[in-house]
Amino acid sequence: MPESIKKRIAIFGSTGSIGTQALEVIGAHADLFEVEILTAQTNDKLLIEQALKFKPNAVVIGDERKYETVKKGLESTDIKVFAGENALDEVADFDTYDMMLAAIVGFAGLKPTLKAVEKGKAIALANKETLVVAGDIVMQLAVEKRVPIIPVDSEHSAIFQCLVGETRNKIESIILTASGGPFLGKKPNFLVNVKRDHALQHPNWKMGAKITIDSATLMNKGLEMIEAKWLFNLTPDQIEVVIHPQSIIHSMVQFQDGSIKAQLGLPDMKLPIQYALAFPHRISNNFPRADFKKIKSLTFEEPDIKTFRNLGLAMEALTKGGNLPCVMNAANEIAVYAFLKNRIGFLDMTDVIEKTMNKVSFVQKPSLEEYFESDGDARSYAADLIKL
Ligand code: NDP
Ligand code: MG
Repeated sequence: MPESIKKRIAIFGSTGSIGTQALEVIGAHADLFEVEILTAQTNDKLLIEQALKFKPNAVVIGDERKYETVKKGLESTDIKVFAGENALDEVADFDTYDMMLAAIVGFAGLKPTLKAVEKGKAIALANKETLVVAGDIVMQLAVEKRVPIIPVDSEHSAIFQCLVGETRNKIESIILTASGGPFLGKKPNFLVNVKRDHALQHPNWKMGAKITIDSATLMNKGLEMIEAKWLFNLTPDQIEVVIHPQSIIHSMVQFQDGSIKAQLGLPDMKLPIQYALAFPHRISNNFPRADFKKIKSLTFEEPDIKTFRNLGLAMEALTKGGNLPCVMNAANEIAVYAFLKNRIGFLDMTDVIEKTMNKVSFVQKPSLEEYFESDGDARSYAADLIKL
């Protein structure tokens, strides 16, 4: 990587699981990267700590009530402090960064990411919901603006890595691997009693609460199928899911000659984060290495979509397209929020999503405004169902 010019990174969602790991990567490669923008929603304490350490040009705290605290915490510096949802779009519009790491969770990540694409900035994309909700609009704009969208999600990073050097070769199919989550092999009579603390214990990955629940219900893999469709321009029948509990193979691509390429490694998000930040270069690190003498076996099985119905619903949304993935995503965000608050049970999440998908009017080719409307309609319908 050329050493003279540092890549200026804007981390949207810097206080989260992806954001903090990205800062570890950046901290270990201060010769290559510098931090330009940091944003958080409510975690003022960590945002201040990060800003004092990494000295960005600007920070945003989403929760406006925390503006004074952040301002005070950074008064000894010349770091600009902004607050509120609109400020995310304003700083995404800055000229002073090279790449946005989109690491906000949920639908909230869409607008600032779109703004960065419009502005012609490279995107390291962790926020899969951005593509689930409005993948057609985001990818179309990225093509127009010649913006690279480099996936951070480990499966998509794996596929992206397998495709390096294959630009002229057609993909026959991709195989997304899934760990299966903490309830692999369990049946509805078990799942009905599952509580949040148990669902929050993922066997292989330590992640934010929302994606951890999505992994337990397999909705995460459904979101990833839709994410893959847009990233790699695939039809639904080209996207397969296989359960691989060891999480060593991060995903695979099969080409037209039947040859399959896979990307392997220990489950550690710092690797795909680092790859996206440094792309097209691979930079050295001291992360633990896979040792095949210790990894005794790699196993594979079919996902149980009769039990984990969220994956089936996501497949339906993937196939029908239009605003259905957006509606599904909104209902899922409400359902996961309610489950995390102990307001509904594990299996109720699926019912909320299914009912909302059946209720909100279908739009085949939504405008951005219509995606926002569908999101709003789905949220209020799902919230009414739960009586939030
Ligand atoms: P976290 O919940 O750990 O972090 C989310 C970040 O977004 C935090 O900085 C949070 O701020 C901020 N945030 C939350 N809500 C809002 C909002 N409404 N507006 C603006 N900012 C907000 O999530 P993860 O890091 O786990 O995940 C981030 C994204 O990356 C998700 O889309 C997820 O699917 C994806 N991803 C994550 C992986 C992982 O290993 N964690 C793996 C693959 C993909 P605050 O801390 O102040 O609340
Ligand atoms: Mg993933």
